[in-house]
Order: sequence, then C-alpha cells, then structure tokens
Amino acid sequence: MKYINKYKSPNYNSRNNSKIQLIIIHYTALKDTPEAISYLCKKEKKVSSHYLISQNGTIYNLVEDKFRAWHAGQSFWQDMTDINSISIGIELDYNPFGKNNKFSFKMIFSLKKLLLKFKKKYKINKNSILAHSDIAPFRKKDPGIKFPWKSLSSANIISSTYRLNKSEIKIIEDWFHNYNFKSKKQRMILALSIIGYDTRQVYNNNKLYNKLIQAYKIRYFRDNNITKNQSIYYYLIQHLFNFMLTKN
Ligand SMILES: [Zn+2]
Repeated sequence: MKYINKYKSPNYNSRNNSKIQLIIIHYTALKDTPEAISYLCKKEKKVSSHYLISQNGTIYNLVEDKFRAWHAGQSFWQDMTDINSISIGIELDYNPFGKNNKFSFKMIFSLKKLLLKFKKKYKINKNSILAHSDIAPFRKKDPGIKFPWKSLSSANIISSTYRLNKSEIKIIEDWFHNYNFKSKKQRMILALSIIGYDTRQVYNNNKLYNKLIQAYKIRYFRDNNITKNQSIYYYLIQHLFNFMLTKN
C-alpha cells in the first residue's frame, strides 16, 4: 500500500511498550487536505494522527505506527483511559459544513484497505474499530452521522448486529432479571458498559446519560439494518448478544 510520507507531525511520543489494540476514526472538520496536513503537523496545535485520508483516497502517513500520536484526547474504552497509547488514529478529510462534506467512494475505499491491513498486522478485533464519538461520547461527534459504517460491516471489517429471535432475546432478559437489573435504563447502561462505553458517571446524571445515548445513536441508528420502530433498548440487547459472541 502506498502512502505519502512527505509530511510528518512532530506531535507524538512513546507508546511505552503498549500494544496496538484499537483503531479510532475521526473527521478533521477542516477545509481541505492541505489545511488538515498543516494543522496536524503544527507543533503548537499539539494534535496529530497516524494517517490522514484525502477526498481522492490519498493516504498520508503523518506519524509512524510505533509512536503514540495525539488524536484521542480525554477518552475511555473498556476501562482504559490512555487510548492514544493503544490505538492508531485515522483522520478523514471531511467537514460536515464544508465542501468536503461527503465520504467519497475513494476515501472509504482507501480506509477499508488500511483497516484490513491493520486488522491483520496488529490482530485487531472487529469490535475494536471505533468512532472518536465512541471513546469520547460527552465531547465528540466524529466521524458523524453520515459515516458509512454499513459499508465496513458489509466488508466484514467490523461486526454487524444480527437480529435475534424471541427466545434469544429472552435469554438476555432473564439474565438481566436474575441479576436484578430491573429497569430498561439500568439494562442499557450495563450493556453499554460491557460493550466498552464510559458509563462511570451516567447513572445519576441524566444529561450525561442522554449524551451517551446520543453518541450511540450516531453510530448505530442510521446505516444499520434496523427497522425504525425497533427501540434502542432491543437494539442494544441484540448488540450485547452479538458482542459477546464475536471472537475476532
Ligand atoms: Zn476526532
């Protein structure tokens, strides 16, 4: 795979021997690729990503994989908080309010190639390719509601959530019941927490709870195969079931 190696960011440090376990997808929210390169490579900005993919599918390698790029910020996944140390960050030249407000075919094609390469090279699990909004749901929205997750699940790069039948749903509901998770809200928070989301402060804080649900909806309620009237509660139960059965 060909990368442009001409531009390098000084914004990185050591991973301290941490293994690469996650891939985080972002959008730049900037005007175009030259502006994104300049931003991600400017020392004062104190941000970077390992890769940037332009609208025409060109892949720029700004920080070597072995280093810790600074793209995640304050974030959380599966009880881990130093996400930069364990992840690869990919920025897409996309701005929801700009001329670059489409995820072009060429951009997504290059992204898929890159993801397939990393999955193999670093043994990345299907559940470990994430949105910035997954790991920072209270602060971030990228890569946003229009990002084509379905195209990644169709290519078997990330998991798809298969619909369960009634008896399978009952297994999970009985399990919740036996462990005294009575309300739908309690069950949803537990499911989100097992999947990896930061639920540490949402039990008693409705504002944060709603933000978390919003971030979840951005990711799962657009491109996936779910009927409009299926509630987020049942979707989450199915997601949890699928999550627990996904090995790699
Ligand atoms: Zn981001």
